[in-house]
Amino acid sequence: MPAPTLLTSWVDGADGSGFPAEHLPFGTFSVGGDRPRVGVRIGDQVLDMPRLADNGLLPAKLDGTDAAEVFAALTLNPFLALGPDAWHAVRARLADLVCDPASRARVEPALVPVAAARSHLPIAVADYVDFYSSLEHATNLGRLFRPEGEPLLPNWRHLPVAYHGRAGTVVVSGTPVVRPAGQRRLPDGSIVFGPTTRLDIELELGFVVGAPSQHGRPVPIGEAADHVFGVVLVNDWSARDIQGWEAQPLGPFLGKSFATTMSAWVTPLEALAGCNVDGPVQDPEPLAYLRLDEPWGLALDLEVGLRPAGADPGDPPATISRTSAAGLYWRLPQQVAHLTVNGAHLRTGDLLASGTISGPETGSQGSLMELTQGGAQAIEVAGQQRTFLEDGDEVVLRGQARPADGVTIELGEAAGRIVPATP
Ligand code: CA
Repeated sequence: MPAPTLLTSWVDGADGSGFPAEHLPFGTFSVGGDRPRVGVRIGDQVLDMPRLADNGLLPAKLDGTDAAEVFAALTLNPFLALGPDAWHAVRARLADLVCDPASRARVEPALVPVAAARSHLPIAVADYVDFYSSLEHATNLGRLFRPEGEPLLPNWRHLPVAYHGRAGTVVVSGTPVVRPAGQRRLPDGSIVFGPTTRLDIELELGFVVGAPSQHGRPVPIGEAADHVFGVVLVNDWSARDIQGWEAQPLGPFLGKSFATTMSAWVTPLEALAGCNVDGPVQDPEPLAYLRLDEPWGLALDLEVGLRPAGADPGDPPATISRTSAAGLYWRLPQQVAHLTVNGAHLRTGDLLASGTISGPETGSQGSLMELTQGGAQAIEVAGQQRTFLEDGDEVVLRGQARPADGVTIELGEAAGRIVPATP
């Protein structure tokens, strides 16, 4: 088989970085105090999209809408709503612009260094749905919560279990996370109010919905991916003590809704086309509406970094977990098909998170709950002991994919530092 042709960009440092011309993730940014607008990352630069449009370097109309207006928006939503043909056309045009040396003089004035750009929440989050799609994670938690019985509940292998989360508290990477307070039950049975003492992380992939669907019409599994623009990293922060006390019988509420961090850059699904692999075999075979006829495992390497309070801010975070999204039991098209099978529709800006991603080996779990056996066994992090997060700790999620030989894609990081509870 001939080696795939790699793109070569004239943007310094883009080739061989995690943000080559094959990647082109979308976000929103501002410089100084100016107005946020749409940007696309190439190497360590951001393409100022309204500026490219104003200079006539993008198609003037996208599906009948003025491109300059679409990209001057405060969020990606107007662009996402246009659907896959427009997404593809713009990406193809951008790849030409950053690779063709003849375009350099006209494009260079629209480049802004990442270091000078402030990232904003890239989408207006419509609905936030959190799935529970990792077999290993569901099994680990089942063993912790129900040591006597079957770790998996009877429904788990038949449908992608999920709950509706709080869209309004999804924040962009870098936003501090205030330690939440709430009710919890102490081992002696007394009920107290105060800051959580079991603050945890959840390493997840998030899928960003672009094209909406119609209320009352389920999205067939074969059409599901056409509605999804791209992928982000998500940290679904969790207060385990609040969650454990409140969640009976209706599930997560305040233990989850205080903050959810997503990365600033949305990696288009199109850029990950080369990462599709066979996922795990599903047994029993799912019902017809959940049956996949394509592989849909995503070969994405994921890691959790933790920089404990007091560590030198110049030190890289210590890696406390490494795993892969390829092992996720329930895949994206199944999540979309299930979410809409009752007639509920997709909206532009919906964020569908995978649920915590854990692998089978020690050190591949996506939450501290699992890494520390429910807080029973501390792990060492850069010379300190941790069960759950302490004030000042910073968590950084990273992801990496290799869609072709010689091409590496870095998902934008999802980072957040814990600040003390509000008195
Ligand atoms: Ca979660």
